[in-house]
Amino acid sequence: MSKINFHPDHSHLLAFATGEGQPGTNLMVSAHLDLCPMCREKVREIEAQQAHSEIEIAALDMMPGNYAAMLNSIMAKPLVADDVIGASYPKTIELDGRHFALPRTLQRYVHKTGNWSRLVGKLWQAPVDLGGVGSAHFIYMEKGGRVPEHTHRGSELTLVLDGEFSDGLNHYETGDMTFLDGRHQHTPMSDADEGCLVFSLVDKPLHFTSGLARLLNPFSHLFMK
Ligand SMILES: [Zn+2]
Repeated sequence: MSKINFHPDHSHLLAFATGEGQPGTNLMVSAHLDLCPMCREKVREIEAQQAHSEIEIAALDMMPGNYAAMLNSIMAKPLVADDVIGASYPKTIELDGRHFALPRTLQRYVHKTGNWSRLVGKLWQAPVDLGGVGSAHFIYMEKGGRVPEHTHRGSELTLVLDGEFSDGLNHYETGDMTFLDGRHQHTPMSDADEGCLVFSLVDKPLHFTSGLARLLNPFSHLFMK
C-alpha cells in the first residue's frame, strides 16, 4: 500500500466527527478515512473526547430528563464511515474493461454515476450525482494525460483512488486528499503507466489560466462541472 502524504487537516476531521462539516467535505473525509488508518485513529480520539466531555457536562446536571437526552445524543452520533447494515453496493467502477476498487463511502454512488466521456488531453470523466452537494466526478488521467492549468473560484477537493499524479505543486499517490481554492493554480497530470483515477468535488466551475485553455472558460461549466 502506498504511503499517504496528504490528509484532511484537524479542523476537517473535527467537523466530520461532530457532524458539523459541509456535506461534500464530510463525504470526501469519509472516503479518505476508508483508506487511511491514521486519520481513522484521529477521528476515534476526537469522538472519544467529545463523548467524554458530553458525559462530564451531563454529570454536572444529572436530571433524569437530561440524562436521557444525553444518551439520545450519544446514540444518535453516526459511526465513522458507517453504512446501512446489509446494504450492498458495487465495490468497483469500470472504465474500458478496467475495474477500480472504490472506498466503501463511494461504493454507494456507483449507481449514481453517469457514463464516461472522453475529454481533451487523455482525460476521462464520469459525473456523480451527490444530490445537490457540489459537482462530483470520477476523473481518469491516462499516462501523459493532463488537465489544463487552472485555478478555482470555489474549492476543489480531490481524493486519489488509484495510481498517482502530479500538479506542479506536489506529487500525489493513492489515498492522498487535497483541498485547493482560488489561491492555488495547478496543472494535474499523470505520468504513471497505470494512469490515475481520482474522485473530485468542486463547488464552482474551474477557471483556466493559460494559453489556449483560456478559451475553455466560457465552457468551463461543462468541463468538470
Ligand atoms: Zn489521513
